Amino acid sequence: MASIRIIPEKCVGCKLCVASCPFGAIKVVNKKAVIMDNCTLCGACVSSCKFFAIDFIKDEMGPSVDLSAYKGVWIFAEQKESIASNVALELLGEGRKLADKLGVELSAVLIGEKPDSAAQVLIAHGADNVYVVDDPTLRDFNDESYTDVFAQLIRTYKPEIVLMGATAYGRSLAPRVASRIGTGLTADCTGLQIDDESKILMQTRPAFGGNLMATIICPNHRPQMSSVRPKVMKPIPADPSRKGNIIRPEINIPAVTSTKVTPVTDNNGKMVNLAEADIIVSCGRGMGDPKNLKLVEELAEVLGAGIGASRAVVDSGWIEYNHQVGQTGKTVGPKVYFACGISGAVQHLAGMSSSDTIIAINKDPDAPIFKIATFGIVGDALEVLPALIKEFRERL
Ligand SMILES: Cc1cc2nc3c(=O)[nH]c(=O)nc-3n(C[C@H](O)[C@H](O)[C@H](O)COP(=O)(O)OP(=O)(O)OC[C@H]3O[C@@H](n4cnc5c(N)ncnc54)[C@H](O)[C@@H]3O)c2cc1C
Ligand code: SF4
Ligand code: SF4
Repeated sequence: MASIRIIPEKCVGCKLCVASCPFGAIKVVNKKAVIMDNCTLCGACVSSCKFFAIDFIKDEMGPSVDLSAYKGVWIFAEQKESIASNVALELLGEGRKLADKLGVELSAVLIGEKPDSAAQVLIAHGADNVYVVDDPTLRDFNDESYTDVFAQLIRTYKPEIVLMGATAYGRSLAPRVASRIGTGLTADCTGLQIDDESKILMQTRPAFGGNLMATIICPNHRPQMSSVRPKVMKPIPADPSRKGNIIRPEINIPAVTSTKVTPVTDNNGKMVNLAEADIIVSCGRGMGDPKNLKLVEELAEVLGAGIGASRAVVDSGWIEYNHQVGQTGKTVGPKVYFACGISGAVQHLAGMSSSDTIIAINKDPDAPIFKIATFGIVGDALEVLPALIKEFRERL
């Protein structure tokens, strides 16, 4: 069990720790810091003390710890304006399989301001329980407060598996929670399975530039935590008649955080969200010049598609990083993916090969992209794209 204490001989009463505590759980009495009962053992104050007067002992788990106290599969249900994100539904689809295999319940954690309307959707997509943490300060994602809330939930309810989306929010939250709890995290998993004998979660992810698949286990710590990129797992169809429990846990909501979310603006404007797009038109170095990207934009506009890019194009400064598809960019899985002047390097394929239909345009008939393309057009993209735009304009 984690513990915290002030070392009186070292404490000089400087009060630095008081401001660092998000829960207002430290006061200074007679020039000595005192930890109060509402301390959640979050550990945030430790680094604030320049005199090493705070002795914080993390949860130490090992083979001697009773791992059987941890039960159930959890997913973090990202939501925006009380609408569950697609990745939350995808995680539920995968979580359902794991929970059924283990014979345990599947729960979703829903954090926000009045996020309740998403709860029924989560139940319809497979959740047995939804833990709802509702507070006006949680309206927008905030790493610090979401981490505090999530860590408290884990300490109280002890799930054995926690899955999060490898989205901008999930990538920030998952490592913070894992570190706070003192467990491991396998990021960007592409496969999750329960080992038949040990019942341990087998977390598979690409390693060494996608050249081999590593399966990682977390045998001595709980929960076993994984993040999964959007579009990698499949949701199960919604069943509106499914019943589940909505649980409202008593949680200490951090009163102070050192980061503040200023009004959120969508700088993508009308841009289609790549991770959720049904059609993507992607450009590679073969487009030859940034001015030629207007052809890609035009085809995307006609089709109502998102615009993707290879890293070569992003590195050249032709387009912003948030368009990059691949191992170090976004993972996408649209119905149709146009690869225009993209060679098909393994790092690019890692982000788009699960697309339903891949249409490759490349002037080199031996380009690797043709090996995974559903339809290949051997030709100059600067001639093929105008022809496609004209044809689609006439037909759509
Ligand atoms: C650790 C690491 C991570 C990486 N992560 C990513 C990633 O996330 N995403 C990513 O995309 N890459 C990534 N890369 C880079 C990757 O290895 C490739 O270098 C990159 O994908 C190549 O981009 P490209 O296909 O646009 O360019 P090129 O490989 O230069 O290919 C250009 C293609 O265009 C064709 N072409 C030329 N002119 C025309 C024309 N007029 N019409 C039609 N076709 C034409 C050529 O035949 C060629 O096949 C990563 C690399 C490393 C080492
Ligand atoms: S920051 Fe350290 S020295 Fe200062 S009051 Fe807190 S515990 Fe004492
Ligand atoms: S709640 Fe966190 S920051 Fe506050 S005293 Fe306890 S461990 Fe320190």
